Amino acid sequence: PSTQYEILRRRISNNIQELWYFINSEVLKLQRQVNDAAPELLPSLKHILDLGVQHKRWLLRDMDKLAEADGYATWREKEANELDNLVQTRFHYLQNPPDCKKAKKLVCNLNKGCGYGCQLHHVVYCFMVAYGTQRTLILKSKGWRYHKGGWEEVFKPISETCTDPEGESSSNWPGNSHTQVLTLPIIDSISPRPPFLPLSIPEDLAPRLIRLHGDPIVWWVGQFLKYLLRPQEKTAALIQNAIANLGFRRPIVGVHVRRTDKVGTEASYHGIEEYMSAVDEYYNQLELKEKVDKRRIYLATDDPKVITDARNKYPHYEILGDATISKTAAVSTRYSDTSLQGIILDIHMLSMSDFLVCTFSSQVCRIAYEIMQNYFPDASAKFRSLDDVYYYGGQSAHNRIAVMAHDSHRSGEIQLMPGDLVGIAGNHWNGYSKGRNLRTNQIGLFPSFKVKDKVETAKFPTYSEMYN
Ligand code: GDP
Repeated sequence: PSTQYEILRRRISNNIQELWYFINSEVLKLQRQVNDAAPELLPSLKHILDLGVQHKRWLLRDMDKLAEADGYATWREKEANELDNLVQTRFHYLQNPPDCKKAKKLVCNLNKGCGYGCQLHHVVYCFMVAYGTQRTLILKSKGWRYHKGGWEEVFKPISETCTDPEGESSSNWPGNSHTQVLTLPIIDSISPRPPFLPLSIPEDLAPRLIRLHGDPIVWWVGQFLKYLLRPQEKTAALIQNAIANLGFRRPIVGVHVRRTDKVGTEASYHGIEEYMSAVDEYYNQLELKEKVDKRRIYLATDDPKVITDARNKYPHYEILGDATISKTAAVSTRYSDTSLQGIILDIHMLSMSDFLVCTFSSQVCRIAYEIMQNYFPDASAKFRSLDDVYYYGGQSAHNRIAVMAHDSHRSGEIQLMPGDLVGIAGNHWNGYSKGRNLRTNQIGLFPSFKVKDKVETAKFPTYSEMYN
């Protein structure tokens, strides 16, 4: 398929969704306004919503059918596999230098003072810089807050030939090209910032990724996680047992409800109803394509009450999930072996789901979404975040490009001219996004469909010498 065809196909699906967010939210607003003033209008408004949502589902179903009928499904699978192999082979090559005594190295300390998802993102960032500077990544992980014995007792070592952090010369980032061992600070304080940080993807892969995938940076992050999270035997057994004991089956929606220490500090509270209405809509949509015997979710949370609550309120749902796991996620027991096992399992099950409903403000949910990209040629649209758009902590600017002019009709809206760059602050999931027009410096709302994502690229090494 042409790149343009693939981009158009994805864009139409996204915009059908955005159009529905817009109509639904505007009609709900009207309903509240006419409630007392003109109650005779309520049935008509309800009719728009009832038939409108059916129409939206039918359009999205046809877009799905189109991707099956166009004959490119096999190409997508094959292209995804080839890219996956290409990148994983490069990682193996980078991480297993023939002579560790001479190898250029980048040292990264796993123990960033934060949660598991945040620490994984920290390691991914180190790995990206290692890949960009062609240095073997050395992970220091003894005394890891989640497992004192270190990373290698849980996941495969990230190198089979080179784990020694010593060398002839060493310095902190940035050093110079001759420094053998460089130590990297956390992303929040790296200076100068290399071009290899998110949201940049490698220039040599960009044309293929832009054709294949709706959000190449998520795919790129997912590749690092794939390499990093190769489980040790014990960990693999833990996961296999859990899958068997749970009765994990498809279709299944992964739901992550982040509460406890996050709520009120870094994220707002969302009731279980909000998550479940997104899940319901997923199944309503799916039922146009196939018969669904049982609506099923995998529910991960750091608050065990959420699981009881969901089971009480949604008895017609099969709710997989383990309240004993969520108990270990409490702040008081969080940094322990049992808690680590719990979060590994929860993230695994979420990432294996057909669709994710969660808050992207949580790194747990973003990690699951990133890993999910390993299981589908393009899983970029298989989520519903109740708050943020996808981001990577410490990322460089996230810009979109205006594709249509916009005149601000209402207060709070900004103007757009085709070609304007807009720094994205968020999507309000009601047809509008918020951002700053970099040309006018205006900050405010604009219709989400009037912009397209700008994919950032950087000149990473291409590892062509691998084949010499
Ligand atoms: P964030 O704080 O949600 O952005 O994610 P982090 O991963 O950085 O820190 C939260 C930590 O809380 C996780 O690493 C887990 O230890 C724990 N946690 C949060 N949500 C869950 C969950 O759904 N299941 C489990 N088992 N642990 C969780």
